[in-house]
Amino acid sequence: MKVSWFHEHGSPDVLICEETQTPAPGPGEALVRVRATGVNHVDIDVRAGTSRVPIRFPHILGREFAGEIAAMGQPLEGSGCGRPSRQPVTLREGDRVWVSCRLPCGHCEFCISGRDNLCEKGGYFGMDLPGGYAQYVTVPVSTLNPLAAAVGFEQAAASQIAFGTAWHVLITRGALRAGQTVLIQAAGSGIGSAAVQLARLAGATVIATAGSADKLERARQLGAHHLINYRTEPKFSEQVMAITAGRGVDLVMEHVGGSLFTESLACLCIDGTMVTVGGHGGEVVPFDIIPFFRRQLKLVGSKNASIAELREVMVLIAQGRLVPVIDTVFPLEAAARAHALVESRAFFGKVVLSC
Ligand SMILES: [Zn+2]
Repeated sequence: MKVSWFHEHGSPDVLICEETQTPAPGPGEALVRVRATGVNHVDIDVRAGTSRVPIRFPHILGREFAGEIAAMGQPLEGSGCGRPSRQPVTLREGDRVWVSCRLPCGHCEFCISGRDNLCEKGGYFGMDLPGGYAQYVTVPVSTLNPLAAAVGFEQAAASQIAFGTAWHVLITRGALRAGQTVLIQAAGSGIGSAAVQLARLAGATVIATAGSADKLERARQLGAHHLINYRTEPKFSEQVMAITAGRGVDLVMEHVGGSLFTESLACLCIDGTMVTVGGHGGEVVPFDIIPFFRRQLKLVGSKNASIAELREVMVLIAQGRLVPVIDTVFPLEAAARAHALVESRAFFGKVVLSC
């Protein structure tokens, strides 16, 4: 099979396309013929070595992917206890599937209480397990989910992490309700473009920021009510206060870090919540504690969506109520170019590999 992998950390050019043996599914596994894989920022970090996560070389990236079941392994001995077997029993060879990006352990205190998003013992495809930058990958059957006929492989590969993360940030961690006002930072990113749509669907008033007029126009087309260019208006909290008649927003989705993080806190209303879910723009930030406690603000961290949340957003995508925004589809062989594009930030939505 063809695989785009890397034998050492480095620039996008370390990603090379080679031939390797197609894996065989073991007990409790399926072989998936990958058709499309989403490129995520975590892929860039793992390739470059900045994620500080130990990996083995050659390494196959690809956290979210979709395809068809090429073969099923033998059923797992004693399945029915231990790790929950969540896959519908009807799945068989040839079926279209999307693969959950994460494999919770099924045993820890979080997994057994239904909060598998908090599990720290499971693994991620493309990091702990070989991912979707390949024509074939073996996966535990518990990670298989039927892919609705209305959703293309490339759409599916662009949906799970962007919409799942946005759902977890806005709905679960941020408790967003209809009628509230939300500020969504960097609306041109995959997660930002997903969050604009989701917040709109939830009945919120959406203020979106981006770093270019073109990206702001795209955010407006996705449903943002108010637009702010954070490059030309670094004191964007003044615009937010003007838009909200001096009140501030109920919720901020912040995933950039650096000065955007600090300035975002000044956008909140009394008792407002900021959910932080990324920090590529600066990981250590100063902020003024005094207005933070006097205004009784809340700062909430966020990371993974649960498997149940991933399935909820995939239902909304199958219904056409959320639409993944795909900037460019590259062939698997051009993974290095796909990474270079993501690093350039000169894209809107998601970058996808067609396998
Ligand atoms: Zn667990």
